[in-house]
Amino acid sequence: MKKNFKYLFVISFFVLLAVVFGAYGSDAETKSDNQDVVMTDVDGSKLPRGVKYKAFVHYPAKGKPPIIRPSCTETNTSSSHFEPVGWALKGSKFYNINRATVPTHLLSYIDEVMENSWQAWRKADSMAYVAKGDDTSVSRANYDGTNLVAWGRVPNGAIAVTYTWYYSGTGEQLESDLIFSNKLKWSYTPYTGDNDCAGISGTYDVQDIATHELGHWVGLDDLYGDADKDLTMYGYGFTAELKKATLGDGDVLGAAAIIP
Ligand SMILES: [Zn+2]
Repeated sequence: MKKNFKYLFVISFFVLLAVVFGAYGSDAETKSDNQDVVMTDVDGSKLPRGVKYKAFVHYPAKGKPPIIRPSCTETNTSSSHFEPVGWALKGSKFYNINRATVPTHLLSYIDEVMENSWQAWRKADSMAYVAKGDDTSVSRANYDGTNLVAWGRVPNGAIAVTYTWYYSGTGEQLESDLIFSNKLKWSYTPYTGDNDCAGISGTYDVQDIATHELGHWVGLDDLYGDADKDLTMYGYGFTAELKKATLGDGDVLGAAAIIP
């Protein structure tokens, strides 16, 4: 009888020990998760510690309730709205075009389009600029040191997607990749300032869309309010629209505000 009690005491002691250490162990794990979480990249591989990415999917204006169309006659001087996403473009960076993916009829225009789109942002803030680098054969968005500009597969029905990788601690933008949908029709019509909606019918204008996408590289978020419809950072894209090749008031204020 006495012997049995001794065993019971020893077993109880170890059970108690297991409960205490078990609780402590899981608590410690939770704490370290918050500090050192490892994120997965677009392809499922592990990103370096502290690096995260965000994907901005640019959708066509379809759905209910009907999405408010931008004006075809007025530039936007009435909305000063902008939303920072939490990073800022810093230092000199280069983008890399995968020319093999560019639609053939746009090949002779793509350099001009990208330069024009960056110049729109550079006017708002001299640091909001990424220069043309070497061409690349990279064809997928991933954290690989290439700031990719390419046509390729994008989520269901989207016009284009911009991915941006950044340090979650410091908010430093590390890399951005821009993928235009290879399922849609594209064209290029230079924007004159008064041909707001006079692009080629049934096609997306590459400069109109590119200028919006580069806003995500700069550090601005999509806007979905009706009052934001004429801003370049409006979250919906329209066929034959050209006016987003230049910035609205909120876009200009946003670029100036987030870049120190
Ligand atoms: Zn967007």
